[in-house]
Amino acid sequence: MTIRNRIALQFSLIVASILVAFSVIIYVVSANYRREEFYERLKNKGRTTVRFLVEVKEVDQELLKIIDRNTLTALIDEKVLIFDEHNALIYSSVDDKIIHYDVHLLSEVRQQKEVETYSGDNELVGLLYQQNGRDLVVLSSAYDQFGRSKMANLQLTLGWGLLGGLSITIGLGIFFAGQSLRPISRINEQVSAITARNLRQRLDEGNRRDEIGQLAINFNDVLQRLEKAFEQQRSFVSHASHELRTPLAALKSEIQLGLRRPLTVPEHEEVLVNLLSDADRLIGLTNSLLFLARTLESIQSVPFQTVRIDDIVFLAKDELLSAKPAYHIEIDYENIPHEETETVVNGNESLLKQVMLNLFDNACKYSADHTALVRISTDERYCRVAVRDRGIGISEADRQHIFESFYRASNAIAYDGFGIGLSICDRIIELHQGNLSVDSQLNTGSTFTVSLPHV
Ligand code: ADP
Repeated sequence: MTIRNRIALQFSLIVASILVAFSVIIYVVSANYRREEFYERLKNKGRTTVRFLVEVKEVDQELLKIIDRNTLTALIDEKVLIFDEHNALIYSSVDDKIIHYDVHLLSEVRQQKEVETYSGDNELVGLLYQQNGRDLVVLSSAYDQFGRSKMANLQLTLGWGLLGGLSITIGLGIFFAGQSLRPISRINEQVSAITARNLRQRLDEGNRRDEIGQLAINFNDVLQRLEKAFEQQRSFVSHASHELRTPLAALKSEIQLGLRRPLTVPEHEEVLVNLLSDADRLIGLTNSLLFLARTLESIQSVPFQTVRIDDIVFLAKDELLSAKPAYHIEIDYENIPHEETETVVNGNESLLKQVMLNLFDNACKYSADHTALVRISTDERYCRVAVRDRGIGISEADRQHIFESFYRASNAIAYDGFGIGLSICDRIIELHQGNLSVDSQLNTGSTFTVSLPHV
Protein backbone atom coordinates (compact mmCIF):
# COMPACT_ATOMS: atom_id res chain seq x y z
CA MET A 1 0.00 0.00 0.00
CA THR A 2 1.43 3.41 -0.91
CA ILE A 3 2.04 5.99 1.83
CA ARG A 4 -0.57 8.22 0.17
CA ASN A 5 -3.27 5.54 0.46
CA ARG A 6 -2.19 4.65 3.99
CA ILE A 7 -2.46 8.28 5.13
CA ALA A 8 -5.83 8.65 3.35
CA LEU A 9 -7.10 5.45 5.00
CA GLN A 10 -5.94 6.47 8.48
CA PHE A 11 -7.40 9.95 8.05
CA SER A 12 -10.73 8.47 6.84
CA LEU A 13 -10.83 5.97 9.71
CA ILE A 14 -10.27 8.72 12.28
CA VAL A 15 -12.91 11.02 10.80
CA ALA A 16 -15.32 8.08 10.31
CA SER A 17 -14.95 7.06 13.98
CA ILE A 18 -15.62 10.64 15.09
CA LEU A 19 -18.65 10.91 12.79
CA VAL A 20 -20.07 7.53 13.91
CA ALA A 21 -19.51 8.38 17.60
CA PHE A 22 -21.24 11.76 17.14
CA SER A 23 -24.16 10.23 15.25
CA VAL A 24 -24.64 7.51 17.86
CA ILE A 25 -24.51 10.05 20.70
CA ILE A 26 -26.99 12.35 18.95
CA TYR A 27 -29.33 9.44 18.25
CA VAL A 28 -29.18 7.98 21.77
CA VAL A 29 -29.65 11.39 23.45
CA SER A 30 -32.61 12.21 21.17
CA ALA A 31 -34.21 8.78 21.74
CA ASN A 32 -33.89 9.22 25.53
CA TYR A 33 -35.33 12.71 25.36
CA ARG A 34 -38.30 11.50 23.27
CA ARG A 35 -39.02 8.64 25.69
CA GLU A 36 -38.77 10.83 28.79
CA GLU A 37 -41.02 13.44 27.24
CA PHE A 38 -43.58 10.86 26.19
CA TYR A 39 -43.58 9.20 29.62
CA GLU A 40 -44.21 12.63 31.13
CA ARG A 41 -47.19 13.14 28.83
CA LEU A 42 -48.56 9.70 29.75
CA LYS A 43 -48.13 10.45 33.48
CA ASN A 44 -49.97 13.76 33.16
CA LYS A 45 -52.74 12.05 31.25
CA GLY A 46 -53.03 9.28 33.87
CA ARG A 47 -53.09 11.76 36.78
CA THR A 48 -55.69 14.00 35.14
CA THR A 49 -57.95 11.04 34.38
CA VAL A 50 -57.82 9.58 37.91
CA ARG A 51 -58.41 13.01 39.45
CA PHE A 52 -61.44 13.59 37.24
CA LEU A 53 -62.76 10.15 38.18
CA VAL A 54 -62.22 10.35 41.92
CA GLU A 55 -62.35 14.02 42.81
CA VAL A 56 -64.92 15.56 40.42
CA LYS A 57 -68.31 14.24 41.37
CA GLU A 58 -69.99 15.71 38.31
CA VAL A 59 -67.87 13.61 35.96
CA ASP A 60 -69.04 10.02 35.41
CA GLN A 61 -67.18 7.30 33.48
CA GLU A 62 -68.95 7.95 30.15
CA LEU A 63 -68.14 11.65 30.23
CA LEU A 64 -64.55 10.83 31.18
CA LYS A 65 -64.19 8.48 28.20
CA ILE A 66 -65.39 11.23 25.91
CA ILE A 67 -62.89 13.65 27.44
CA ASP A 68 -60.10 11.00 27.18
CA ARG A 69 -60.81 10.27 23.56
CA ASN A 70 -60.77 13.96 22.74
CA THR A 71 -57.58 14.80 24.57
CA LEU A 72 -55.60 11.76 23.43
CA THR A 73 -56.41 12.09 19.77
CA ALA A 74 -52.81 12.88 18.92
CA LEU A 75 -51.72 9.52 20.29
CA ILE A 76 -52.19 6.14 18.68
CA ASP A 77 -53.56 3.14 20.57
CA GLU A 78 -54.03 5.23 23.70
CA LYS A 79 -55.32 3.59 26.86
CA VAL A 80 -55.92 4.68 30.47
CA LEU A 81 -56.85 1.94 32.94
CA ILE A 82 -57.60 2.48 36.63
CA PHE A 83 -57.62 -0.37 39.14
CA ASP A 84 -58.86 -0.39 42.72
CA GLU A 85 -57.11 -1.89 45.80
CA HIS A 86 -58.27 -5.38 44.75
CA ASN A 87 -56.83 -5.00 41.27
CA ALA A 88 -60.30 -4.77 39.84
CA LEU A 89 -60.56 -2.57 36.74
CA ILE A 90 -62.79 0.38 37.74
CA TYR A 91 -62.17 2.53 34.64
CA SER A 92 -60.96 1.98 31.10
CA SER A 93 -60.74 4.68 28.46
CA VAL A 94 -61.45 2.03 25.80
CA ASP A 95 -64.23 -0.47 26.01
CA ASP A 96 -64.39 -1.85 22.50
CA LYS A 97 -60.96 -3.49 22.73
CA ILE A 98 -59.71 -6.47 24.75
CA ILE A 99 -57.66 -5.13 27.58
CA HIS A 100 -54.42 -6.91 28.50
CA TYR A 101 -52.66 -6.11 31.69
CA ASP A 102 -50.18 -7.85 33.90
CA VAL A 103 -51.13 -8.41 37.55
CA HIS A 104 -47.44 -8.35 38.54
CA LEU A 105 -47.18 -4.92 37.03
CA LEU A 106 -49.93 -3.69 39.33
CA SER A 107 -48.12 -4.94 42.47
CA GLU A 108 -44.87 -3.45 41.14
CA VAL A 109 -46.61 -0.07 40.78
CA ARG A 110 -47.97 -0.37 44.37
CA GLN A 111 -44.41 -0.99 45.60
CA GLN A 112 -42.53 1.62 43.53
CA LYS A 113 -45.35 4.19 43.17
CA GLU A 114 -44.25 4.97 39.62
CA VAL A 115 -43.17 2.53 36.88
CA GLU A 116 -42.06 3.30 33.31
CA THR A 117 -42.12 0.31 30.98
CA TYR A 118 -43.38 -0.96 27.63
CA SER A 119 -46.35 -2.88 26.43
CA GLY A 120 -45.32 -4.16 23.01
CA ASP A 121 -44.35 -1.10 20.96
CA ASN A 122 -46.29 1.19 23.29
CA GLU A 123 -44.84 3.16 26.16
CA LEU A 124 -46.61 2.40 29.43
CA VAL A 125 -46.62 4.30 32.72
CA GLY A 126 -47.94 2.94 35.99
CA LEU A 127 -48.85 5.38 38.81
CA LEU A 128 -50.08 4.83 42.35
CA TYR A 129 -52.85 7.27 43.26
CA GLN A 130 -53.56 7.54 47.00
CA GLN A 131 -56.65 9.46 48.06
CA ASN A 132 -58.86 9.10 51.17
CA GLY A 133 -57.16 5.78 52.09
CA ARG A 134 -57.76 4.35 48.64
CA ASP A 135 -54.76 3.04 46.63
CA LEU A 136 -55.68 3.22 42.97
CA VAL A 137 -53.33 2.10 40.21
CA VAL A 138 -53.42 4.00 36.96
CA LEU A 139 -51.93 2.44 33.82
CA SER A 140 -51.55 4.87 30.98
CA SER A 141 -50.13 3.72 27.63
CA ALA A 142 -49.91 4.88 24.00
CA TYR A 143 -47.83 4.63 20.87
CA ASP A 144 -45.67 7.73 20.24
CA GLN A 145 -46.16 7.87 16.53
CA PHE A 146 -45.04 11.47 16.12
CA GLY A 147 -41.90 11.00 18.26
CA ARG A 148 -40.95 7.71 16.61
CA SER A 149 -41.37 9.08 13.11
CA LYS A 150 -39.15 11.98 14.16
CA MET A 151 -36.56 9.43 15.36
CA ALA A 152 -36.81 7.47 12.07
CA ASN A 153 -36.28 10.73 10.24
CA LEU A 154 -33.27 11.56 12.39
CA GLN A 155 -31.85 8.06 11.78
CA LEU A 156 -32.17 8.53 8.04
CA THR A 157 -30.62 12.00 8.14
CA LEU A 158 -27.70 10.79 10.27
CA GLY A 159 -27.20 7.73 8.03
CA TRP A 160 -27.03 9.75 4.83
CA GLY A 161 -24.95 12.43 6.55
CA LEU A 162 -22.51 9.75 7.66
CA LEU A 163 -22.28 8.26 4.18
CA GLY A 164 -21.81 11.67 2.56
CA GLY A 165 -19.29 12.74 5.20
CA LEU A 166 -17.30 9.54 4.73
CA SER A 167 -17.19 9.86 0.95
CA ILE A 168 -16.03 13.47 1.20
CA THR A 169 -13.43 12.49 3.84
CA ILE A 170 -12.01 9.67 1.73
CA GLY A 171 -11.88 11.91 -1.35
CA LEU A 172 -10.25 14.78 0.54
CA GLY A 173 -7.89 12.36 2.32
CA ILE A 174 -6.59 10.97 -0.97
CA PHE A 175 -6.35 14.47 -2.45
CA PHE A 176 -4.50 16.09 0.48
CA ALA A 177 -2.21 13.09 1.09
CA GLY A 178 -1.30 13.23 -2.60
CA GLN A 179 -0.72 16.99 -2.35
CA SER A 180 1.52 16.75 0.70
CA LEU A 181 3.51 13.82 -0.69
CA ARG A 182 4.01 15.40 -4.10
CA PRO A 183 7.32 17.06 -3.07
CA ILE A 184 8.57 13.62 -1.96
CA SER A 185 7.69 12.14 -5.36
CA ARG A 186 9.52 15.07 -6.96
CA ILE A 187 12.59 14.45 -4.78
CA ASN A 188 12.36 10.76 -5.63
CA GLU A 189 12.48 11.53 -9.33
CA GLN A 190 15.42 13.89 -8.85
CA VAL A 191 17.32 11.37 -6.67
CA SER A 192 16.90 8.58 -9.20
CA ALA A 193 18.48 10.85 -11.83
CA ILE A 194 21.65 11.24 -9.73
CA THR A 195 24.50 8.84 -10.50
CA ALA A 196 28.21 8.73 -9.66
CA ARG A 197 28.78 10.65 -12.90
CA ASN A 198 26.60 13.65 -12.13
CA LEU A 199 27.16 14.19 -8.42
CA ARG A 200 27.14 17.92 -9.09
CA GLN A 201 23.39 17.80 -9.47
CA ARG A 202 21.44 19.07 -6.44
CA LEU A 203 17.86 18.56 -5.25
CA ASP A 204 15.31 21.34 -5.30
CA GLU A 205 15.22 22.58 -1.67
CA GLY A 206 11.72 24.07 -1.95
CA ASN A 207 10.98 26.57 0.82
CA ARG A 208 13.93 25.17 2.92
CA ARG A 209 11.75 25.31 6.04
CA ASP A 210 9.40 22.32 6.04
CA GLU A 211 10.44 18.67 6.60
CA ILE A 212 10.81 18.04 2.86
CA GLY A 213 12.98 21.15 2.46
CA GLN A 214 15.13 19.96 5.39
CA LEU A 215 15.41 16.50 3.84
CA ALA A 216 16.52 18.02 0.54
CA ILE A 217 19.05 20.26 2.32
CA ASN A 218 20.49 17.28 4.22
CA PHE A 219 20.57 15.16 1.09
CA ASN A 220 22.36 17.95 -0.80
CA ASP A 221 24.81 18.10 2.07
CA VAL A 222 25.49 14.37 1.72
CA LEU A 223 25.85 14.81 -2.04
CA GLN A 224 28.35 17.60 -1.52
CA ARG A 225 30.45 15.44 0.81
CA LEU A 226 30.17 12.53 -1.58
CA GLU A 227 31.23 14.73 -4.47
CA LYS A 228 34.18 15.99 -2.39
CA ALA A 229 35.16 12.39 -1.51
CA PHE A 230 34.99 11.37 -5.20
CA GLU A 231 36.97 14.45 -6.13
CA GLN A 232 39.60 13.67 -3.48
CA GLN A 233 39.80 10.09 -4.69
CA ARG A 234 40.34 11.26 -8.26
CA SER A 235 42.96 13.85 -7.33
CA PHE A 236 44.62 11.33 -4.98
CA VAL A 237 45.13 8.83 -7.79
CA SER A 238 46.36 11.47 -10.24
CA HIS A 239 48.68 13.11 -7.70
CA ALA A 240 50.01 9.77 -6.42
CA SER A 241 50.81 8.54 -9.92
CA HIS A 242 52.39 11.89 -10.75
CA GLU A 243 54.55 11.76 -7.59
CA LEU A 244 55.62 8.20 -8.38
CA ARG A 245 56.31 8.95 -12.02
CA THR A 246 58.76 11.80 -11.36
CA PRO A 247 61.42 9.82 -9.40
CA LEU A 248 60.87 6.78 -11.63
CA ALA A 249 61.50 8.90 -14.76
CA ALA A 250 64.58 10.40 -13.08
CA LEU A 251 65.80 6.88 -12.23
CA LYS A 252 65.31 5.78 -15.82
CA SER A 253 67.13 8.77 -17.34
CA GLU A 254 70.04 8.34 -14.90
CA ILE A 255 70.35 4.68 -15.95
CA GLN A 256 70.07 5.56 -19.66
CA LEU A 257 72.76 8.20 -19.19
CA GLY A 258 75.03 5.63 -17.53
CA LEU A 259 74.50 3.14 -20.36
CA ARG A 260 75.07 5.57 -23.21
CA ARG A 261 78.90 5.46 -22.96
CA PRO A 262 81.54 3.96 -20.76
CA LEU A 263 81.80 6.10 -17.60
CA THR A 264 84.77 7.04 -15.51
CA VAL A 265 84.77 6.05 -11.84
CA PRO A 266 83.79 9.57 -10.57
CA GLU A 267 80.98 9.68 -13.18
CA HIS A 268 79.81 6.25 -12.00
CA GLU A 269 79.83 7.52 -8.43
CA GLU A 270 77.78 10.58 -9.42
CA VAL A 271 75.20 8.43 -11.20
CA LEU A 272 74.97 6.10 -8.22
CA VAL A 273 74.52 9.03 -5.79
CA ASN A 274 71.70 10.37 -7.99
CA LEU A 275 70.13 6.90 -8.19
CA LEU A 276 70.32 6.60 -4.40
CA SER A 277 68.61 9.95 -3.89
CA ASP A 278 65.82 9.02 -6.32
CA ALA A 279 65.44 5.60 -4.64
CA ASP A 280 65.27 7.36 -1.26
CA ARG A 281 62.52 9.61 -2.54
CA LEU A 282 60.64 6.61 -3.86
CA ILE A 283 61.00 4.82 -0.52
CA GLY A 284 59.84 7.96 1.31
CA LEU A 285 56.87 8.25 -0.96
CA THR A 286 55.93 4.60 -0.60
CA ASN A 287 56.24 4.89 3.19
CA SER A 288 53.97 7.95 3.16
CA LEU A 289 51.45 6.07 1.05
CA LEU A 290 51.57 3.14 3.44
CA PHE A 291 51.20 5.47 6.41
CA LEU A 292 48.23 7.20 4.77
CA ALA A 293 46.56 3.88 3.97
CA ARG A 294 47.12 2.54 7.53
CA THR A 295 45.90 5.75 9.17
CA LEU A 296 42.74 5.91 7.05
CA GLU A 297 42.12 2.21 7.63
CA SER A 298 42.38 2.42 11.42
CA ILE A 299 41.01 5.93 11.89
CA GLN A 300 37.38 4.82 12.40
CA SER A 301 38.20 2.15 14.96
CA VAL A 302 40.67 3.94 17.27
CA PRO A 303 39.67 4.11 20.95
CA PHE A 304 38.65 7.50 22.36
CA GLN A 305 39.26 8.70 25.89
CA THR A 306 39.56 12.04 27.67
CA VAL A 307 42.94 13.62 26.88
CA ARG A 308 44.54 16.96 27.74
CA ILE A 309 45.34 18.95 24.62
CA ASP A 310 48.11 20.97 26.31
CA ASP A 311 49.83 17.72 27.39
CA ILE A 312 49.67 16.47 23.81
CA VAL A 313 51.13 19.76 22.53
CA PHE A 314 54.12 19.46 24.88
CA LEU A 315 54.59 15.75 24.04
CA ALA A 316 54.61 16.55 20.31
CA LYS A 317 57.11 19.37 20.86
CA ASP A 318 59.51 17.08 22.75
CA GLU A 319 59.20 14.35 20.13
CA LEU A 320 59.83 16.69 17.19
CA LEU A 321 62.73 18.49 18.84
CA SER A 322 64.48 15.24 19.67
CA ALA A 323 64.26 14.23 15.98
CA LYS A 324 65.05 17.71 14.60
CA PRO A 325 67.02 19.71 17.19
CA ALA A 326 67.44 22.67 14.82
CA TYR A 327 63.72 23.51 15.16
CA HIS A 328 62.26 25.93 17.75
CA ILE A 329 58.79 25.59 19.21
CA GLU A 330 57.40 28.25 21.56
CA ILE A 331 54.24 27.35 23.44
CA ASP A 332 52.06 29.96 25.09
CA TYR A 333 48.55 30.20 26.65
CA GLU A 334 46.34 32.93 25.22
CA ASN A 335 44.02 32.89 28.22
CA ILE A 336 43.89 31.05 31.51
CA PRO A 337 41.21 28.37 31.16
CA HIS A 338 38.19 29.06 33.44
CA GLU A 339 37.80 25.37 34.17
CA GLU A 340 40.30 22.52 34.39
CA THR A 341 38.27 20.67 31.78
CA GLU A 342 38.51 23.40 29.11
CA THR A 343 41.65 21.82 27.66
CA VAL A 344 40.32 18.27 28.04
CA VAL A 345 38.81 16.70 24.93
CA ASN A 346 37.40 13.33 24.06
CA GLY A 347 39.80 11.86 21.55
CA ASN A 348 42.69 9.64 20.64
CA GLU A 349 46.05 10.77 21.99
CA SER A 350 48.27 9.27 19.32
CA LEU A 351 46.16 10.64 16.43
CA LEU A 352 46.01 14.13 17.98
CA LYS A 353 49.77 14.04 18.62
CA GLN A 354 50.22 13.16 14.94
CA VAL A 355 48.30 16.31 14.01
CA MET A 356 50.42 18.50 16.28
CA LEU A 357 53.65 16.90 15.03
CA ASN A 358 52.68 17.57 11.44
CA LEU A 359 51.64 21.20 12.04
CA PHE A 360 54.78 21.98 14.10
CA ASP A 361 56.96 20.26 11.51
CA ASN A 362 55.43 22.22 8.62
CA ALA A 363 55.72 25.53 10.49
CA CYS A 364 59.42 24.94 11.16
CA LYS A 365 60.12 23.41 7.73
CA TYR A 366 58.55 26.20 5.68
CA SER A 367 60.13 29.10 7.59
CA ALA A 368 63.67 30.38 7.49
CA ASP A 369 63.86 30.75 11.29
CA HIS A 370 62.54 27.17 11.75
CA THR A 371 60.26 28.43 14.50
CA ALA A 372 56.68 27.45 15.35
CA LEU A 373 54.71 29.77 17.67
CA VAL A 374 51.99 27.76 19.39
CA ARG A 375 49.11 29.40 21.28
CA ILE A 376 46.58 27.46 23.32
CA SER A 377 43.24 29.12 24.00
CA THR A 378 39.80 28.05 25.26
CA ASP A 379 36.26 29.32 25.30
CA GLU A 380 33.04 27.82 26.64
CA ARG A 381 32.81 25.29 23.77
CA TYR A 382 36.20 24.85 22.14
CA CYS A 383 39.82 24.35 22.95
CA ARG A 384 42.05 25.84 20.22
CA VAL A 385 45.67 25.34 19.24
CA ALA A 386 47.00 27.92 16.78
CA VAL A 387 50.35 27.13 15.12
CA ARG A 388 51.91 30.23 13.58
CA ASP A 389 55.09 30.66 11.56
CA ARG A 390 56.92 33.46 9.75
CA GLY A 391 57.53 31.36 6.67
CA ILE A 392 56.82 31.21 2.95
CA GLY A 393 53.04 31.44 3.32
CA ILE A 394 50.37 29.91 1.06
CA SER A 395 48.63 31.65 -1.83
CA GLU A 396 44.84 32.01 -1.87
CA ALA A 397 44.54 29.47 -4.73
CA ASP A 398 46.73 26.88 -2.98
CA ARG A 399 44.82 27.26 0.31
CA GLN A 400 41.80 25.65 -1.39
CA HIS A 401 43.76 22.45 -2.08
CA ILE A 402 46.40 21.94 0.61
CA PHE A 403 44.14 19.51 2.52
CA GLU A 404 43.95 17.20 -0.50
CA SER A 405 46.31 14.21 -0.49
CA PHE A 406 49.56 14.81 -2.43
CA TYR A 407 48.80 18.44 -3.14
CA ARG A 408 51.84 20.66 -2.72
CA ALA A 409 51.92 24.40 -3.35
CA SER A 410 54.36 25.53 -6.05
CA ASN A 411 56.43 27.50 -3.50
CA ALA A 412 56.86 24.31 -1.41
CA ILE A 413 58.41 22.13 -4.13
CA ALA A 414 61.93 23.03 -3.00
CA TYR A 415 61.20 21.60 0.45
CA ASP A 416 61.04 17.92 1.38
CA GLY A 417 57.58 16.42 1.60
CA PHE A 418 54.85 14.56 -0.22
CA GLY A 419 51.71 16.56 0.53
CA ILE A 420 50.08 13.91 2.68
CA GLY A 421 50.36 15.26 6.26
CA LEU A 422 47.63 17.92 6.11
CA SER A 423 45.08 15.60 4.48
CA ILE A 424 45.58 13.13 7.35
CA CYS A 425 45.34 15.98 9.92
CA ASP A 426 42.09 17.16 8.35
CA ARG A 427 40.53 13.67 8.58
CA ILE A 428 41.71 13.19 12.16
CA ILE A 429 40.25 16.54 13.27
CA GLU A 430 37.00 15.81 11.42
CA LEU A 431 36.83 12.46 13.25
CA HIS A 432 37.10 14.43 16.54
CA GLN A 433 34.20 16.68 15.42
CA GLY A 434 36.58 19.60 15.33
CA ASN A 435 37.83 21.98 12.70
CA LEU A 436 41.18 22.68 11.07
CA SER A 437 41.47 26.09 9.45
CA VAL A 438 44.29 28.05 7.85
CA ASP A 439 45.06 31.72 7.60
CA SER A 440 48.07 32.69 5.56
CA GLN A 441 49.80 35.42 3.61
CA LEU A 442 52.35 34.66 0.93
CA ASN A 443 55.95 35.35 2.06
CA THR A 444 54.73 36.51 5.47
CA GLY A 445 53.60 33.41 7.30
CA SER A 446 50.77 31.04 8.06
CA THR A 447 48.60 30.14 11.02
CA PHE A 448 46.96 26.72 11.25
CA THR A 449 44.25 26.53 13.93
CA VAL A 450 42.87 23.31 15.37
CA SER A 451 39.52 23.73 17.20
CA LEU A 452 38.25 20.78 19.22
CA PRO A 453 35.09 20.67 21.36
CA HIS A 454 36.16 20.21 24.99
CA VAL A 455 34.28 18.09 27.53
P1 ADP B 1 54.13 18.34 2.95
O1 ADP B 1 54.50 19.38 3.94
O2 ADP B 1 54.80 17.05 3.15
O3 ADP B 1 54.23 18.84 1.54
P2 ADP B 1 51.48 18.62 4.00
O4 ADP B 1 50.22 17.85 3.70
O5 ADP B 1 51.87 18.72 5.41
O6 ADP B 1 52.58 17.99 3.13
O7 ADP B 1 51.24 20.08 3.43
C1 ADP B 1 50.63 20.26 2.16
C2 ADP B 1 51.07 21.56 1.53
O8 ADP B 1 50.57 22.64 2.27
C3 ADP B 1 52.55 21.74 1.55
O9 ADP B 1 53.15 21.13 0.44
C4 ADP B 1 52.67 23.25 1.49
O10 ADP B 1 52.54 23.71 0.16
C5 ADP B 1 51.50 23.72 2.26
N1 ADP B 1 51.86 24.03 3.66
C6 ADP B 1 51.57 23.31 4.75
N2 ADP B 1 52.01 23.92 5.85
C7 ADP B 1 52.58 25.06 5.47
C8 ADP B 1 53.22 26.14 6.16
N3 ADP B 1 53.33 26.15 7.47
N4 ADP B 1 53.68 27.18 5.41
C9 ADP B 1 53.55 27.18 4.09
N5 ADP B 1 52.96 26.19 3.37
C10 ADP B 1 52.48 25.15 4.06
